[in-house]
Amino acid sequence: MSTIAPTIAPRLRLSEIAPAVIQSEIRAMSVECDRIGGINLAQGICDTELPGVVAEGATDAIRDGFNIYTRLDGVQVLREAIAAKLQTYNHLTVDPQSEVLVTSGATGALYASLLALLNPGDEVIIFEPFYGYHVSTLISLRMKPVIVPLAEPDWQLDLDALRGAITSNTRAIIVNTPSNPSGKVFGRGELEAIAALAIEHDLFVFTDEIYEYFLFEGIDHLSLATLPGMRERTITISGLSKTFSITGWRVGYLAASSRWISAIGYFHDLTYVCSPAPLQFGAAAGLRQLADSSFYTDLASSYEAKRDQLCAALEDAGLQPYVPQGAYYVLANAERIAGANSSERARALLRATGVASVPGSAFFRPGLGDHLLRFCFGKRPADLDLACERLREF
Ligand code: PMP
Repeated sequence: MSTIAPTIAPRLRLSEIAPAVIQSEIRAMSVECDRIGGINLAQGICDTELPGVVAEGATDAIRDGFNIYTRLDGVQVLREAIAAKLQTYNHLTVDPQSEVLVTSGATGALYASLLALLNPGDEVIIFEPFYGYHVSTLISLRMKPVIVPLAEPDWQLDLDALRGAITSNTRAIIVNTPSNPSGKVFGRGELEAIAALAIEHDLFVFTDEIYEYFLFEGIDHLSLATLPGMRERTITISGLSKTFSITGWRVGYLAASSRWISAIGYFHDLTYVCSPAPLQFGAAAGLRQLADSSFYTDLASSYEAKRDQLCAALEDAGLQPYVPQGAYYVLANAERIAGANSSERARALLRATGVASVPGSAFFRPGLGDHLLRFCFGKRPADLDLACERLREF
């Protein structure tokens, strides 16, 4: 019976872009890891504990009845806490009434911003290695990612390559700093060069600053929107998923000129309505109560220790790490593992050690990145210890 369906209903089919949007390599590795009961260093699930004040803020809000839709730009107490944090940490002055939008994670922030500001066919520059969602989100909106490779081993910006990638169809640049998967932190000079080109060619810049607190060796975070001439054209995106270990809560935000906020809010409302109401209160409690504590510096130093631990184990295993300056991932050279490509290498390593990683090809254009694997160190100490032990035995 079902075999005749295509002829009687030929218009029941997937969209033109649907086949191109495949299951992510990261999820696939996690599934495989669960199946064999391994240690998952593949997914960026930060399975460390969330701060108590954040959990209490949310449970109090549920009990106090804050369980309905919020204003489309988020609850006031959270917008105000975000504006205060943007002022003190990012040195970015924003009006919490008109220049902040609480979103369904950084993911929802980028999606809604792209819908509001760009058109199908527009070209958007992305640096490689890239975060797959950035590329797939553009494709899903029928926009065109234009890839500019960063140079190994320290992923330096090649300004000529960036300049050469800009065409009359270019509308924006996406900058992820600190970066997933490389851990690269764009330096001031690099950000100034990107800003100069954005101004010269009249481009938007979408920043993804979700790892802004995960910085090592005393490096400071620099928000592109604070550079001269960038405020109006920069959409500053971040969120609490990583900082408070609440990836499943879906609480993120963006800051932008009030010129853009209403349209971005309109599209965010259409797709997500609002970030979960009580969880917005939890995030606000965290931002307010942890502001003057050592929470953020402790976070950075504990992750720096985890980075050093994992990089040392990778080195001992003969998987030379590209030591990251930020975020909580490390790319490592996996050429010593047999395999035709990075998927085969990741699977071979999982079989031999029970440690799951992500094939490097997930972060590059087709045919590239096969010499790399990505490992996440946003893990509980016991899991990281065990993973390092297994890697050393490899
Ligand atoms: N941006 C980057 C670079 C990420 O690595 C991730 C998480 N993997 C996200 C955004 C997702 O953030 P959120 O949970 O706030 O949507």
